Amino acid sequence: MRAVALISGGLDSLLAVKLVEEQGVEVLPLHMVTSFTGKKDPGFLRDLERLYGLRVHRVVDLTREFLPLLLNPPHGFGKNMNPCIDCKILFLRKAREIMEEEGASFVITGEVLGQRPMSQRGPVLRLIEREAGLEGLLLRPLSARLLPPTIPEREGWVDRDRLEAIQGRGRKRQMELARKYGWHRIPSPAGGCLLTDPGYSRRLKDLMDHLPPGELPSLRDVRLLQLGRHFRLSPGAKMVVGRREGENALIQSLAGEENILLVPKGFPGPTGLLVGPGALEELERGGSLLARYCKGSGPFTFLCGGRKVGEIQVHPLPPEEVDKWLIT
Ligand code: SF4
Repeated sequence: MRAVALISGGLDSLLAVKLVEEQGVEVLPLHMVTSFTGKKDPGFLRDLERLYGLRVHRVVDLTREFLPLLLNPPHGFGKNMNPCIDCKILFLRKAREIMEEEGASFVITGEVLGQRPMSQRGPVLRLIEREAGLEGLLLRPLSARLLPPTIPEREGWVDRDRLEAIQGRGRKRQMELARKYGWHRIPSPAGGCLLTDPGYSRRLKDLMDHLPPGELPSLRDVRLLQLGRHFRLSPGAKMVVGRREGENALIQSLAGEENILLVPKGFPGPTGLLVGPGALEELERGGSLLARYCKGSGPFTFLCGGRKVGEIQVHPLPPEEVDKWLIT
C-alpha cells in the first residue's frame, strides 16, 4: 500500500507521515511551495532526512497555478491576502494528480482539527476534501479519530485505532509523540507564509489594485515585493528603494527592460527601480525620492538603465513628501 503526503516540514506533517508509515504503508512525501511560502534554509531537505529519516520525494512549485487565486479566490481571503481554503484545495488537487501518477491510494496531511481559525474547522476540512476530488481519500492521522472514517480506515489499509485524536492549538500530544520517536530537535512550526504578513499583504494589494483588470502579476513583480521600500508615485508608477547592499544587488537582478533602474554614480547609496507604465513620467520624482536615502544634501547623480538610458541629477525630497507615498 502506498500513499502520498503533503509535508510542510513542521512537526505535525512529520508526525502524520510517521503514524502511517509505522503501519506498513509506503509514504511518498511531497513538499509544495509557492513564491509566497516562507524561505526555508538551504539545508532544510537534508535535515529532514538526517534528523527525522524523511526523504522528500518531490518538491513542487505551484506559484503559476496559485497566482490566479489572488485575483478573486472563490472562498475568499483570510485576515490578510491569504486565500487559505483555495490554496489548500490547489495543493491537494496536485497531490491527487501525483497520487494517481505514482499508483498511490490515498493522501495524508498533518492538519489538526481546530488548529487554525479558517481552514481547519470540520465543515471546511470536508469542503476542501470534496473540492480537491479526494472525498474519503484524505487521511489526517493526527485528528483521524475525531473525523468520519476515511476509505483507508474503512478498508483496513490503516488501523484507525492507532491514529490520533488531537484537536486545537495545544502541542502536548505532538511533543509526546516526538519524544516517543526520539526526535530531540523539534522542527519549527510550519508557516511563514508571506500572505499572512500584514505589511507584505498591503504591498501585494497595492500591486493587484494597479494592474489592468484581469491581469496577473508577473513572477518578477511578486519577487520585488519582498525587497526594499515601496512607494506608490502614481497609478502607473511605483518606486522600489533598496535598503542594504544585498537588497540593492537583488533589485538590480530583477530590473527588466520595461523598468528604469537608478544606480548611484560614483558614490555608495541605494539602488532604485521605477516600475509600471508611468515610470518615465515619474523619473524626476523617483530620483529625488531615492536621493532622500543618500548621505548628504546633494545634488546626487544616478545612472539610469532599462527603459531610459543616461543619467539624472537630483536633490533629495523633504522627508514628509517621501512618507506620503510609502506603502506601509
Ligand atoms: S497560509 Fe499561505 S501557504 Fe498556508 S494555506 Fe494559507 S495561503 Fe496557503
